[in-house]
Amino acid sequence: MSQRILAVALESDKDVVLVRQRARQVSALLGFNKQDQVRIATAISEVARAASYGGAGGRALFALGDLHHRQQLEVLVSAASVPAPGSEAAALTEVALVTARRLMDGCDIDSATGMPIVRMRKSLPPQVPVSPTRLAQIATELAATPTGNSYEEVQQQNRELVETLAELRERQEDLLSLTRELEDTNRGIVALYAEIEDKAEHLRRADEMKSRFLSNTSHELRTPLSSIRALSKLLLDRMDGELTPEQEHQVGLIERTATEMSELVNDLLDLAKIEAGRVEPQTEPVVVENLFRALRGMLRPLVDTEHVELVFDGGGVERPFESDETMLAQILRNFIANALKFTERGSVRVTADEDEAAGTITFAVTDTGIGIDADHLHLIFEEFAQVENPLQRRSKGTGLGLPLCRRLAGLLGGHVDVVSRPGVGSTFILTLPRHFPHPAPAST
Ligand code: ADP
Repeated sequence: MSQRILAVALESDKDVVLVRQRARQVSALLGFNKQDQVRIATAISEVARAASYGGAGGRALFALGDLHHRQQLEVLVSAASVPAPGSEAAALTEVALVTARRLMDGCDIDSATGMPIVRMRKSLPPQVPVSPTRLAQIATELAATPTGNSYEEVQQQNRELVETLAELRERQEDLLSLTRELEDTNRGIVALYAEIEDKAEHLRRADEMKSRFLSNTSHELRTPLSSIRALSKLLLDRMDGELTPEQEHQVGLIERTATEMSELVNDLLDLAKIEAGRVEPQTEPVVVENLFRALRGMLRPLVDTEHVELVFDGGGVERPFESDETMLAQILRNFIANALKFTERGSVRVTADEDEAAGTITFAVTDTGIGIDADHLHLIFEEFAQVENPLQRRSKGTGLGLPLCRRLAGLLGGHVDVVSRPGVGSTFILTLPRHFPHPAPAST
């Protein structure tokens, strides 16, 4: 239910000025801010001008309404007649409606009565609601407030215009300084990008040099190491005469150390080759059963059969899949050799399974060994990382096996994961795509 505040008759152009003044007074008393007062006054006077065009007469009614539990200023402007289509009055109404829609919260036209009524509304500011007592007070205040003459109203309108222009200029200046700030930030970002690009280039070069250095040094070391191994073997085979027990012990030591160094050099070379992008997977159909048979043969010498059982179960993958078997075997051999190294009792299980929906083959190597602390899990795939433990000293290792596995898995379009609990055991998982991705992925 709307409560009436004030009505103004629209009989001449003077009344349009009057209605504008009234609109500003009403909206000020209802608590609208200065800007809203100008918006309301402008919308209403525009509609009133169209309604009273040509002296046809009309009426403007101000009321307090309610919409969705929010108080509203409602203004109904009615015209004496419907403007003829295409007439100047119709064009004026059209423009007035566009203005009103822009400046008010709502504006509808209702001409079902034959006489057009424009209904405009604007929500009151959500401070203190206007009570019926306050409304009565407003009505009394309005009755007591005289309306000025047209000259004063024009002056007032001018002041409003000047204020609006000043505000616009201020906003424009704000926008300008914001744009300048944004430009500065942009320039900063561009400079930062250039710096990052520069650093990345440096890193790329350093990485390249590291790979080249590794590759060269490894090559240089390989030949003398092979000679040391061959010579110590000759000595141990008594090709150069009998050895005393002490000599045998010492030559044995030399041979073992040279073998360990060869392993390190080989791993370094492999890593350097992958990093330099010189390794390309050669794909072929892989039959899991054959792969497991070869691995069993290769790793049998490492199994302490009295305490540890090495079990292969490839039943999960029946059909051959596409991959590089040599790289795949290298990864699994590393996993299994580690598992055997760090398991004193129990079993090492190697399984293969297929997830048809995901199109992946998963190999898992599960041991019942010493396990890895959660704090160290993320480290073991880093170059040269080894976790300090009693079994570590017994079996030397290079700390390069797992980083190599990670890179090889990347080259095969897959990835490696690990889950482990100290004292319970670890599971190293290799996930590969059933179909090798073309073109071949780059290692990371
Ligand atoms: P390493 O040549 O030392 O075996 P890896 O890169 O293969 O180098 O492994 C890094 C480290 O990760 C190992 O030194 C060991 O501390 C830990 N590790 C790897 N596999 C296992 C496992 N199955 N159980 C417990 N620790 C493991």
